[in-house]
Amino acid sequence: MENTQSPDTFTMKRGDTRQPARDSVTADLPTEASSRPPTHYRTLSAKQLWHEGSRSEQGLILGGWLLSVLACMASGIAAVVNSWSGLSLTFAGVEVYVSIYPPLMICLWWTLFFGWAWGAIPAYLATLSLALYAHMPLPWALLFACANPLGFAVLVLGYRTIAMPLHLRSTNAVLYYTLMSFVASVFSSAGALIWCYTNLVDPTGLLPIWQGWWLGGFLQCLLLGGPLLLVSQPALERWRDRHPRLWRTAEAESRRLSLQLVIAIVAGVLIYGWLTLWLGSNTVRHALRASELAILPGAVTTMLATTWTFYWVFAVIAAFVGFFGYRMFTYWLDSTTRLVSELAEANNKLAHLARTDALTGQPNRRALEEALEQQLQRSQRNGERASLVLLDIDHFKGVNDRYGHDAGDAVIRALAETMKETIRNVDVAGRWGGEEFLVVLANVDEEGAAAFAERLRTRVESTPVAHGELHVSYTISLGVAPLSTPHRETWLKRADEALYRAKLDGRNRTAIAPARSEAEGVSLHSPC
Ligand code: GH3
Ligand code: MG
Ligand code: MG
Repeated sequence: MENTQSPDTFTMKRGDTRQPARDSVTADLPTEASSRPPTHYRTLSAKQLWHEGSRSEQGLILGGWLLSVLACMASGIAAVVNSWSGLSLTFAGVEVYVSIYPPLMICLWWTLFFGWAWGAIPAYLATLSLALYAHMPLPWALLFACANPLGFAVLVLGYRTIAMPLHLRSTNAVLYYTLMSFVASVFSSAGALIWCYTNLVDPTGLLPIWQGWWLGGFLQCLLLGGPLLLVSQPALERWRDRHPRLWRTAEAESRRLSLQLVIAIVAGVLIYGWLTLWLGSNTVRHALRASELAILPGAVTTMLATTWTFYWVFAVIAAFVGFFGYRMFTYWLDSTTRLVSELAEANNKLAHLARTDALTGQPNRRALEEALEQQLQRSQRNGERASLVLLDIDHFKGVNDRYGHDAGDAVIRALAETMKETIRNVDVAGRWGGEEFLVVLANVDEEGAAAFAERLRTRVESTPVAHGELHVSYTISLGVAPLSTPHRETWLKRADEALYRAKLDGRNRTAIAPARSEAEGVSLHSPC
């Protein structure tokens, strides 16, 4: 179910998925949960209905639609026969004109729930038949009949761009429906001008017909169409959910649609404003030109009424546009803030990953180099002692060869764990590469480093690694280099040389780098 769950969800559609996927942007009112699914405009595919629909589905939908077509044509002609066009109404002291056109409601329902073509075709046929009935020349009638489909196209554009519920049970949904109904009515009212032109209506008669057309359409959308949507939406929605394969979510590209919608709304409002003022002032101009002072008061009254109607409509539109503009703005602001924090989080993760060894989850060479550099700087600044321990697993090739590469990996992970448990918080230990590890011991002299190295070595020696059924025993050799140089590379080289010495001396031992004056290191331990 889409609509009933997202009453106040205000969504700009970007992709074609029904779910609120990555390509859908959803803006929620502050009180609404953002996890609720957005409501996308769905259409009924005639092709799918034909190929995949059951007999009863086809019968119900096509039968209902054909009946609607007939009802539209009959009621359209009835509107002409009974002159339901340009009826005068006094509203809050202002005289306004409305037209009643029943096909509008039927077609609106089909358009919003089934798709543009389902509503536009009956609308076109209804208008065409009434035009022909009223003896409008065929070419003009063909053009004239496009008016309502044009208005519906704008309406559909609005609902494709912003996924808004059609149930009209939330403020957002009602406001949006009102705004879109107004713009669609203005576009539909283009037909009134053709009607006046082909029926040779004089300039003073233009305004009532045009105003009746758009205001009538608008009021019908609000007062009849609104309740119709409210009442029929839940049942229809349930029915649509029971027959999901027949429906498709209208494909859309958000930016293009948004631009088209903005253009349509701006054009609608501008056309409306211009026509209102032009037609209203025409009445006065006509009276002045003809020097018919007798009709001047009436013309001025019409002009005043028109101007006030114009003002109120503009005020409402300005309020709607402001409201939706504000919602859009806060949405983009929120989403930008969210994106920035997600980006910062992703960057932190990347930075962490770039400094972490994938196999052991411990600092990698890059992180160790940074730690070395920091230690050097600290020591230079406050004369702090420090030592390096470089260690390497003995005969590791043999471990791989005998027990397999996985067992070798398990040994590397186990050694990393043992090191982590052996060092202090202030020390940094990590994988230098392959089966070599490095430990930076802060504030530790040669003796302390040697003691640490021996502690680690004996612990490793006495802790076989469990790998499945296997228990793999291994040993390590370690080279200790107390800090005696301001250069990182030299410090490392000395630790490496000590390690080499430990290997040469028989492995499973610790060697200490000689003081700078001495030629060779001293092995601390010799188990053999
Ligand atoms: P030595 O006592 O002289 O250090 O002998 P060694 O066999 O350990 O010698 P060497 O350093 O030449 O070999 C290291 C081996 O470690 C070679 C390589 O295949 C293996 N190795 C390096 N990285 C990994 C790893 O991530 N996983 C596993 N399973 N093996 C690795
Ligand atoms: Mg080795
Ligand atoms: Mg090695």
